[in-house]
Amino acid sequence: MYFISTRGEERVTAAQAIVQGLAKDGGLFVPEVFPTVSREELEEMLGMSYAERAAFVLSKYLEEYDKDGLLAACEKAYAKFEGSDPAPLVKISDGVYILELFHGPTCAFKDMALTLLPYLLRTGCDLVGIKEQILILVATSGDTGKAALEGFKDADGVKIMVFYPDDGVSKMQKLQMCTQEGENVNVVAVKGNFDDCQTAVKKIFNSEECKEALLSKNTRLSSANSINFGRLAPQIAYYFSAYLDLISAGQIEMGEEVNFTVPTGNFGNILAAYYAKKMGLPVGKLVCASNKNNVLTDFIRGGEYRIVGRQFHKTMSPSMDILISSNLERFVFELSGRDAPLTAERMKSLSERGTYTISPKEKEEMQREFFAGFSSEDDTVETIYDLFTEIGYPMDTHTGVAMSVAREYFEKEKDDKRNMVIVSTASPYKFPQDVLYALTGNDVKDSFKGIKRINVLTAMKIPKSLSGLRDKPVRFKTSVPVSKAFDEILNFLGD
Ligand SMILES: *Cc1c(COP(=O)(O)O)cnc(C)c1O
Repeated sequence: MYFISTRGEERVTAAQAIVQGLAKDGGLFVPEVFPTVSREELEEMLGMSYAERAAFVLSKYLEEYDKDGLLAACEKAYAKFEGSDPAPLVKISDGVYILELFHGPTCAFKDMALTLLPYLLRTGCDLVGIKEQILILVATSGDTGKAALEGFKDADGVKIMVFYPDDGVSKMQKLQMCTQEGENVNVVAVKGNFDDCQTAVKKIFNSEECKEALLSKNTRLSSANSINFGRLAPQIAYYFSAYLDLISAGQIEMGEEVNFTVPTGNFGNILAAYYAKKMGLPVGKLVCASNKNNVLTDFIRGGEYRIVGRQFHKTMSPSMDILISSNLERFVFELSGRDAPLTAERMKSLSERGTYTISPKEKEEMQREFFAGFSSEDDTVETIYDLFTEIGYPMDTHTGVAMSVAREYFEKEKDDKRNMVIVSTASPYKFPQDVLYALTGNDVKDSFKGIKRINVLTAMKIPKSLSGLRDKPVRFKTSVPVSKAFDEILNFLGD
């Protein structure tokens, strides 16, 4: 299977798409055609383990990867998760379920893909015949950085460098990253918000000058950000798995449509659900949940993507504090009927004028697939509190946003009787201060005190990777202006 750029200038193999990350024309790689999963294959997948299901979905896209190799890699990756199921489905009321994707090494859903990406990338390099060392460059709003560091630490022939916005990540996220172990890792704060950080990294990716400077150090760039197809592909698998689990549990019949609510930032997670639907999974409505940074809500409701004149808000769901949703380009490409020149023009308009508008017909099509809503900080707190008091289920702040918007959907679409799966993207222990505040109204200054109190209150098991952080030395303290990001890379690589 080949991959093409959303901006039309490139056509590459799956391995090349993963190794390269971003297309040379600045576009994102998408499958030339969507592979399909038949009803018979869905039946077959019912009896599979999570790792087997994931390998099955991956092999549909990554044809030149060896099937047994993929399966072994999935088994190894998902063995790193706590508990027997890496993506358990929890029923919270009739027809409403939570898909917990936070049982991995860093307690956020990014682990679902980033435990696997090193394998996809290393194998990709072998297939493409790349001899240089790879430098993984990451811009993170908090969770990607840590998950990528964990995934790539001490990997052969790879170095990884993570940039995070100085003021835009939670204390726990910062501590997770700055205490990272591994000889091949580096973590640097940049002044500004996540968009500044992401823009700086994108610039480096698009600069021939930077690339040449790196090649002279025998280094090639690659990306672990959610624009990399290697991030997207493993995420498609859990939508299949959740659907199959609903069938196995006797909650739905084969073929019945299921809705999903996804807390959204860069549009990667929810796009994976859309891809699953394109492959033939019976998916109904996709509910796109945003926080106060509700640029996607306005886009889906109004058809204009507009960042000019929009304020950036820091919220208690920092991994969704994003104005430029980079994976949206893949969806807009589909919406346009795969019109690459039009997509390129829209993205140019976004970067030059801060806005683009889709046609009324496209808007209608988009609204058939998606419902959009956003949750204020107060509503998120209220929802977390309600759910814990009503049924004893503690949620993190990102999941709180999703639940709040799902409730709005239930309210507005009373006639939609389809089952709803709400995607939970982080452990409540990952954002302990805000979660404790939501549960009890109490503020604590110290994250570990927060963890302890949530534990007393909920009796939920504390993930080992978080409780152990307290005693780890802080290794990375550098903070630089955006303009100095590339110098930091050269420093890190040495001579
Ligand atoms: C990254 C992240 C999100 C947003 O996911 P996207 O794929 O960027 O839409 C939501 N919640 C958590 C906890 C995250 O880490």
